[in-house]
Amino acid sequence: MKALVLNSPLNLAVHDVPDPGEPGPGQVRVQVQSVGICGSDVHYYEHGRIGDFVLKSPMVLGHEAAGVVHQVGEGVESLSPGDLVAMEPGVPCGICTECKSGRYNLCRDVRFWATPPYDGALAEFVLHPAALTYRLPECMTSEEGALMEPLAVGVHACNRGGVRPGCVVAINGAGTIGCATLMTALAYGASKTIVADMIPARLERARRLGAEVLVDARSGSISEAAIHATGGRGADVGVECSGHPGGAQALVDAAAPAGRVVLVGMGPQPTQIDTVAAMVKEVDLATVFRYANAYPTAIELTSRGRTPVAQLVTDRFPFSNAVSAFEFARSPRPDTCKIMIDL
Ligand SMILES: [Zn+2]
Ligand SMILES: [Zn+2]
Repeated sequence: MKALVLNSPLNLAVHDVPDPGEPGPGQVRVQVQSVGICGSDVHYYEHGRIGDFVLKSPMVLGHEAAGVVHQVGEGVESLSPGDLVAMEPGVPCGICTECKSGRYNLCRDVRFWATPPYDGALAEFVLHPAALTYRLPECMTSEEGALMEPLAVGVHACNRGGVRPGCVVAINGAGTIGCATLMTALAYGASKTIVADMIPARLERARRLGAEVLVDARSGSISEAAIHATGGRGADVGVECSGHPGGAQALVDAAAPAGRVVLVGMGPQPTQIDTVAAMVKEVDLATVFRYANAYPTAIELTSRGRTPVAQLVTDRFPFSNAVSAFEFARSPRPDTCKIMIDL
């Protein structure tokens, strides 16, 4: 079968690779249909590493995937051939303390697609555990299925932030994850949302998705905007999705007393926070690493029209042009949000 293989930094090609074969017990074999390109895929493409994860041998890219069940393995009763499915890309060990307690995103032995040394899903077929493969309702498309991955990050961020009806939520960064967080916050009943970004086209997208207060971060400050929009009180929940080293502090400053700041974006530089500024307001800090138990909520919200993820897709490439898609992703247009590869 064909797969998009990263051989070394900037050396990417659609290659013939061995077919994964028949599904084992508890597994399904899925014919991949849609894969979204994530910032992490582009980072591996350019640099061959993210932190301690280093590309040492050729690796298939892609972790935001949906497709059609082709075959089911022994004991699989929840899925049938022909089902359109979204697949959760991290396969945890299932037996460690973190896995058993439900925080399986923190499993040390997780095998996550397109994170060295594990191959990703930009391939014609993948084998995947049925337990991490979710049937999509008929109203959903395979592109929406692939978008359940970034939406799961937004769902997890809002869960970690305790977003509830009536909350004021400030979001720094309006890329895919910022928008996924915005959609989720609105679906969870946030009464007012404040979104900051440096790119006007992204702010415009956030406005279309329902953000009430938009902050051009080149000239304005999210903290001032949040304080102003709440009569001086501040935001109940702040979610940092930009990776900017000053983003966390800006949200601490934007927070209401007893507010909560959730750190999602990972930038190249360490983040500095004035802890006293957080302490005098008892601002809780929460961090996010991927997600756990978020796919069912993401699918439910999307199938009910509450999280219009399809609006995030700005560019599409056929699988045969996947290398061009990655070249484009390195220097996208200002309004580019999610690039989708159609297999
Ligand atoms: Zn992703
Ligand atoms: Zn585990």
